[in-house]
Amino acid sequence: MTNKIYLDHAATTPVDPRVAEAMLPFFTEQFGNPSSQHSFGRDAKAAVEKARSQVASLINSEPEEIIFTSGGTESDNFAIKGTAFANMARGSHIITSTIEHHAVHDPCEFLKQFGFETTFIPVDKNGMINLADIEKAITDRTILISVMHANNEMGTIQPVSDVSIIAKSHGIQLHTDAVQTFGQIPVDVKQLGVDMLSISGHKIYGPKGIGAIYIKKSTKITPFMHGGGQERGLRSSTLNVPGIVGLGRAAEIAADMINTEPLRQSTLRNNLIKKLQEDVGDLKLNGHPSSRLPNNINISFNNTDGEFLMSSLDISGIACSTGSACSSAGSGPSHVLHALGLSERMIGCSLRLTLGRSTTSEDLNSAAEMISDLVKKARAMAPRF
Ligand SMILES: *Cc1c(COP(=O)(O)O)cnc(C)c1O
Repeated sequence: MTNKIYLDHAATTPVDPRVAEAMLPFFTEQFGNPSSQHSFGRDAKAAVEKARSQVASLINSEPEEIIFTSGGTESDNFAIKGTAFANMARGSHIITSTIEHHAVHDPCEFLKQFGFETTFIPVDKNGMINLADIEKAITDRTILISVMHANNEMGTIQPVSDVSIIAKSHGIQLHTDAVQTFGQIPVDVKQLGVDMLSISGHKIYGPKGIGAIYIKKSTKITPFMHGGGQERGLRSSTLNVPGIVGLGRAAEIAADMINTEPLRQSTLRNNLIKKLQEDVGDLKLNGHPSSRLPNNINISFNNTDGEFLMSSLDISGIACSTGSACSSAGSGPSHVLHALGLSERMIGCSLRLTLGRSTTSEDLNSAAEMISDLVKKARAMAPRF
């Protein structure tokens, strides 16, 4: 097959050529250090501040509330550890969910050795948290709640603004990992009511290795990197000017498409799900049926093997991922699908397809055909699975 079909946009996206174009001058002619006092520095600083405004405007924050980081992982680590260390005198208890990205889950685990304790609240079979569980978990030692805006594996969108009402009434800082929603669906920090929000460049057609964290004014947080005092002293290190410019431009482009692209993608997505239901049957859509990222499909195909499906699709030029053991970034089967109550067997036969801006209905027709054939093939040799 000559035309490859990329259906793994939740893992990463290509850099938009307009983003690459915006970045290029900042590697060469405009190479200044934004901290420098001369014209080279001033030019670089102006570009950084423009990008800061572009990011801020997409989430309805003040530019000063945006701190650039190296990506979503750093932003999550910053929010969790920064809040923990800044609030030690007040308490040592954190509340998060069982379906968080490792970049949230693992820092919470790490903090155990420093005397912090985390309650991981469960989700229902659609991947939705229960507000009553949060309310119940709160103690007078709770300093942080972190609930992701939308899940990267099965797409469920959480009621973050409702969590915010609870957090505010107890004076607890609230963080959300919005890596999968920023630039994909409307994200408004005021409407969500969060104190901290994580952003990544490479999930929204920007470069890898750049991200940002929104930190609301008056949030209690310790600096993540100590050094030259950049980023209001919260995140020292010479700024990644090309990356920042790229993230800003990517945010600006996303803003242009945010009212049309979600509906286009969800329409294509729904057609594909319908087609697969008709063609192969005996499948289970994982995640929430409606409160869901517009580009996400996560399906368990009974009596098949996700590893077999994924690698066979790869040979045919279709890129997607599976929640089964060996192919996920971490080791072992997906903790997210496990949290939905899926058996090892159902996790093992799951496929995640995530659409993007370049995805067409022709792509999905080819993918549907290919998947149907493979599922039938796999079921014919079912005893193996
Ligand atoms: C990709 C992702 C991250 C990590 O972002 P990086 O920029 O790759 O470090 C964190 N959280 C979620 C939900 C993600 O999808």
